[in-house]
Amino acid sequence: MNLKYPFLDLGRVNEPYADELVAAAERVIRSGRYIGGPEVEAFERDLSSYTGAPFAIGVSNGLDALRLILRAYREMGVLNDGDEVIYPANTYIASVLAISDAGLTPVPVDIDERTMNIDTDLLEEAVTDRTRAIMTVHLYGRVSWDDTLVRVARRHGLKVIEDCAQALGARNLSAGFHESRYAGALGDAAGISFYPTKNVGALGDAGAVLTHDEELARTVRSLANYGSDRRYHNIYCGFNCRLDPIQAAMLRVKLPHINAENANRFARALAYRRTIDRQDVILPMMTNEVNDCVWHQYVIRVPADRRGSFMREMEKEGIGTDVHYAVPPHLQPCYATLAHGPLTVTERLADEIVSLPIGTGISVADAAEIGAVINRLDF
Ligand SMILES: *Cc1c(COP(=O)(O)O)cnc(C)c1O
Repeated sequence: MNLKYPFLDLGRVNEPYADELVAAAERVIRSGRYIGGPEVEAFERDLSSYTGAPFAIGVSNGLDALRLILRAYREMGVLNDGDEVIYPANTYIASVLAISDAGLTPVPVDIDERTMNIDTDLLEEAVTDRTRAIMTVHLYGRVSWDDTLVRVARRHGLKVIEDCAQALGARNLSAGFHESRYAGALGDAAGISFYPTKNVGALGDAGAVLTHDEELARTVRSLANYGSDRRYHNIYCGFNCRLDPIQAAMLRVKLPHINAENANRFARALAYRRTIDRQDVILPMMTNEVNDCVWHQYVIRVPADRRGSFMREMEKEGIGTDVHYAVPPHLQPCYATLAHGPLTVTERLADEIVSLPIGTGISVADAAEIGAVINRLDF
């Protein structure tokens, strides 16, 4: 079905950059350097200076970024077999796969209904004598960072890893506006994804690790390159998880526009907020005084028993919707044996959430029009 407002039209998102992307691709093709080299190094410098994280390592994708961080902590002796890593129950499964892949035990914690991110008031009771790290996820582009999280991590000596896949360019403002810090530079290490649908998307898979820890940076870089510290000398049993120069070149075109892209997303979120007005539709909170949101997704809530009908009626109106995510990781077959406490908010919201189109694939006027359709929708 050809929708008037598809949920996401990536061709349209990349259209304004098309000429520059073609020129950058041509530059790489003619350079003769197809692994590593100046494009990757330049992009790593750009990313480090944008986020304020001293070390940026380009890698193959967002999942690998998170895997490499945890594997590196294992090589460094910071994490060991069976150590527990706390993560928010409402997340994309990649956050959890990275934890279990490293031989660690994922411990899901329920979310705060307003932010849909980890409920930091539940952290203290989730800590056991095996807990070694917290993976916080800035889901839907909203920063998940507060004093409680920092306090619990400090008290128990936990590493804090940010899953920043959806939140590049979002800031934490707890130290005041002028002292604001970008997500990705808040914790001990962060994984970023440049999957094509993300706020800054490559034209294929790509990702990055950010950190201020030089030893971690060195270990990640080595692990991503067969575990070698120099040519044909392997100190770890590593992987091949490098960022391709062709994707680095695409990202060098798009990264400078990230704040403008995020501002565009905010304008559409605001149009939804100003237009949609009905009792049975709950809108996401806007930003609060501490954490901002770069609106990777605009996630509303409708009554669970009518969500299917809502999405079908929207489609009849020519509007694409999606669900992020219909089944939380702890309810996936692959985690059937994962031990966990009650995750009632996550499970309830998983049946109510619906994502609306957001980003430059639609205009602000389109968002207002979509909002008006929702107001009169019979579902
Ligand atoms: C996209 C995403 C990932 C994984 O990134 P890939 O580049 O697709 O591997 C991890 N965590 C979250 C929250 C994501 O949205």
